[in-house]
Amino acid sequence: MATAESVLKPDHQAKRKHFIFTDEHEQLRESIRAFVTKELAPHAEEWEETTFPDSVFHRMGELDLLGLDKPEEYGGQGGDYFTSLVLGEEMTGANSGGLAMGVAVHTDMAMPPILAFGTEEQKERYLTPGLRGELIAALAITEPDAGSDVASLRTRAREVDGGWLVNGSKTYITGGVRADVLVCAVATKPESGHQGISFLLIDRGEGVHSSALRKLGWHASDTAEIGLHDVFVPEENLLGALHGGFYLIMANFQWERLAMALGAVGAMQIAWERTAQFARDRQAFGRPLSGHQAIRHKLADMATSVHTCRCVTHDALRRFVAGEDPLREVTMAKLLTQRASFELMDQCLQIHGGAGYMRGDGGPSAWVERAARDARLGPIGGGSDEIMREILGRVLDL
Ligand SMILES: Cc1cc2nc3c(=O)[nH]c(=O)nc-3n(C[C@H](O)[C@H](O)[C@H](O)COP(=O)(O)OP(=O)(O)OC[C@H]3O[C@@H](n4cnc5c(N)ncnc54)[C@H](O)[C@@H]3O)c2cc1C
Repeated sequence: MATAESVLKPDHQAKRKHFIFTDEHEQLRESIRAFVTKELAPHAEEWEETTFPDSVFHRMGELDLLGLDKPEEYGGQGGDYFTSLVLGEEMTGANSGGLAMGVAVHTDMAMPPILAFGTEEQKERYLTPGLRGELIAALAITEPDAGSDVASLRTRAREVDGGWLVNGSKTYITGGVRADVLVCAVATKPESGHQGISFLLIDRGEGVHSSALRKLGWHASDTAEIGLHDVFVPEENLLGALHGGFYLIMANFQWERLAMALGAVGAMQIAWERTAQFARDRQAFGRPLSGHQAIRHKLADMATSVHTCRCVTHDALRRFVAGEDPLREVTMAKLLTQRASFELMDQCLQIHGGAGYMRGDGGPSAWVERAARDARLGPIGGGSDEIMREILGRVLDL
């Protein structure tokens, strides 16, 4: 268990001491950290303007980082869940929510359903090149009129000779501008709500049109509006059971939400450390900021929040890995961490004063305004705060 002392240690090492990670995980952490520090972090600001290039996927594939927990027979590394979590934590070191999530959507949201539900032929065509970074996948569920309420999806897949003809639109799709394939939810039996959703693997091609959306944060990632006009999808591209798509969505959610919670904890830890250091260095009224009780207390509360979020998330993770069905704990971890991360980033910005409000000056505080904007998505994406509370309401029998 991390102690109060380790949480407060000013050098971003506390998580190393946590009981869930072995020496092998820590070695992996070292190598990922070196890669992130050398090859990703220096570009964080530039990619905020341009979105990160596809070469990040190629490079991560080359370094065997895209399939850490995927089976070796498909080109993965055959590691356990924690290897992928180490990656998630360390990616936060690049200080770019858009980059971290842009990669995580491919590795943790689009690839897992192909592994879990795909045929051998689909795994060969999509999973193996995806783990090599030669193919980029996006998960396309949300539509202009169906977000939280997945049962009202309107993108229609009509059965035709040899496959389906798809018409409709998707929105807010991360990686949707660059993706080679969409892991796409469609209505195959619209009158049946949840029971009428299926997943199709839709290759970029005729009838698929993407355009980039502008947004508050996550500027390094592309987020797309996608139009699907008479797109023919061959029958071999049905992913999982016909009309069984809702099950696929649910199967993936626990892992997605855990990954989001872990990502938030990693980002909070780094933000706290940097802000604490800033408060030690910055002078006001003849002493460091941290010499003022109001700031010191604020930092103490923030450290408590990081620690609480880590404990709750790691508890959910342990249960998940042990094979329990920790719906309650994962939901609580997602709800707690995303809101806490947003609040902590806001406090970091406040402690940085004017420097925290400045953009792209390349200085040591340039990460703050980006982190504050990026963290706003957490309570919305991957199931909003309200939906988490609805789930808890059911689980808690309210
Ligand atoms: C940057 C970004 C990236 C995204 N990436 C992807 C992606 O890669 N793939 C993808 O499929 N989707 C993606 N999304 C979509 C995201 O999952 C949805 O925005 C989210 O599920 C909420 O849906 P919505 O925006 O339609 O809001 P709505 O469902 O319309 O909800 C609007 C508000 O009402 C609340 N609300 C809804 N229902 C209830 C209820 N029953 N009780 C109380 N309150 C309720 C919501 O919590 C929310 O606050 C992304 C979104 C963003 C902003």
